[in-house]
Amino acid sequence: MSVLIYTENVGWEFKKSTFEAVSYASAIAGQNNTNLVAISIGDVSKAELTALGKYGAEKILNVSNAKLKSFINQAYASVIAEAAKKEGADIVVIANSFSGRGLAPRIAVKLEAGLADGAVSLPDQGSGKFIVKKTAFSGKAFAIVELTSANKVISLTPNSYKVVEKIETAVIEDFAAEGNASDFKAVIKEIVRATDKVSLPDADIVVSGGRGLKGPENWGMVEELAGLLGAALACSKPVSDNGWRPHSEHVGQTGIAVSPNLYIAIGISGAIQHLAGVSSSKVIVVINKDPEAPFFKVADYGIVGDAFEVVPKLIAAIKEY
Ligand code: FAD
Repeated sequence: MSVLIYTENVGWEFKKSTFEAVSYASAIAGQNNTNLVAISIGDVSKAELTALGKYGAEKILNVSNAKLKSFINQAYASVIAEAAKKEGADIVVIANSFSGRGLAPRIAVKLEAGLADGAVSLPDQGSGKFIVKKTAFSGKAFAIVELTSANKVISLTPNSYKVVEKIETAVIEDFAAEGNASDFKAVIKEIVRATDKVSLPDADIVVSGGRGLKGPENWGMVEELAGLLGAALACSKPVSDNGWRPHSEHVGQTGIAVSPNLYIAIGISGAIQHLAGVSSSKVIVVINKDPEAPFFKVADYGIVGDAFEVVPKLIAAIKEY
């Protein structure tokens, strides 16, 4: 038995959510007194791969195949499942990122495994059981699930497990896998990055604007606040529907789900569909001029006031600090 972690990369570099997932998988390997094997797919440098040892990976299977340079759900799932079988791994961990959400169920089907998607803490393995706490209903609730199958797939919610640095030496091994011919029915030809700024799903801090900001011309102060805090920008659905902001920033039930340590909502009412994508944020700060705005019910800190007065004051205070 061993634990396998799929280490997702962006532009051949690992992301924070990957290091969190490696740390998490390493802790599960520790719980089970077994070793942690990582699998990387793509052209990740040797130095980057070796650095995975710092988070607990003892062996790294490196898949460098021209056919797998673009992310293809089916093919990546086949390769990861093949690696799990090769390593005798009965637990597979991945980050519950955008790609992870597509991969996890596919890997689970291939391994006939039970799936806990969106885990938020380490499994409880007391009394021979395997119980995982995970998000449910788009982050509005938690579910406690028991995985009873021999094989298990767990995807970890970003920002729910701290990166833990260890001193391990990782051994890199080439792994010649390429998926099945039927996995390549749809192939990505080009990926155009929407932004070079902080990536929204991985961000520690998110500054989000709603229709209360009146129009795209008023986003300067939101961008300035986000820049000062090293935050990613987000918005409510009507804002992106109106073309004030790109769709890649839309959060909520029909947009991106985020779980940052700090979510600042400016001029957003807090409709249930918006909350569905942001309510698992650790700390929520709401700025709204209407004291009855529903968002205040889920806020940790609320500022009742006009965004056009409050946000410039916040910016000035941060600059002074
Ligand atoms: P509004 O509801 O117009 O609220 C604006 C807020 O700004 C108000 O609370 C107001 O008090 C405040 N305000 C106004 N002026 C100021 C000021 N000067 N200073 C401070 N505050 C001010 N929405 C999403 O966001 N994400 C989704 O994924 C999503 N999915 C949906 C899916 C479905 C099927 C449906 C039906 C709806 C969905 N919606 C989604 C839309 C959702 O129901 C709300 O309509 C939307 O979230 C409202 O956006 P808003 O809060 O920016 O705008």
